[in-house]
Amino acid sequence: MPLKVFVKPNPKLSGFQKEFSDMVRNASDQWCQASSGAVSYRFVDNEKDASIVWNYTDNVDDCNAVCERGLDGATDLKIRAINDKPELATIAILVKDKPGAAFRDRQVLTRSCLHEMGHALGMNGHSPNDHDVMFPSANMDGKVMLSERDRNTIRKLYQFQKTAS
Ligand SMILES: [Zn+2]
Repeated sequence: MPLKVFVKPNPKLSGFQKEFSDMVRNASDQWCQASSGAVSYRFVDNEKDASIVWNYTDNVDDCNAVCERGLDGATDLKIRAINDKPELATIAILVKDKPGAAFRDRQVLTRSCLHEMGHALGMNGHSPNDHDVMFPSANMDGKVMLSERDRNTIRKLYQFQKTAS
């Protein structure tokens, strides 16, 4: 900590860079607040320095690794630490259904960012409760916020890690 966050520019969708970065910031802020300070982050200018790399794409193949169809996002964790903590996560978010299409709903995209970042922070599983951000499909009920259960999960996860280390 702090996590080093890099939003990888997509030359095909360069006009979306700023808006996507704002979504990433929104999602990161929510998880950091929920963790009561255990999780923190800062943006970095160089991919080489990053611990979380965010990609936005209009190519569904970019999300193929562990694609979550309901969310159209995917998180690929590379464990390179000896302590089993993911130190490098690559996240890809499908921001258009296909090249030339309109950008997908902003709230759905922000929710996908929250969900995939949850995975990057170490939440491997999914919630069975569709009000939670960690539910595996985007069930929009008007607000894009972590639920109380999401918040409890991140607090427990990082509380445990603090205690264990
Ligand atoms: Zn998921």
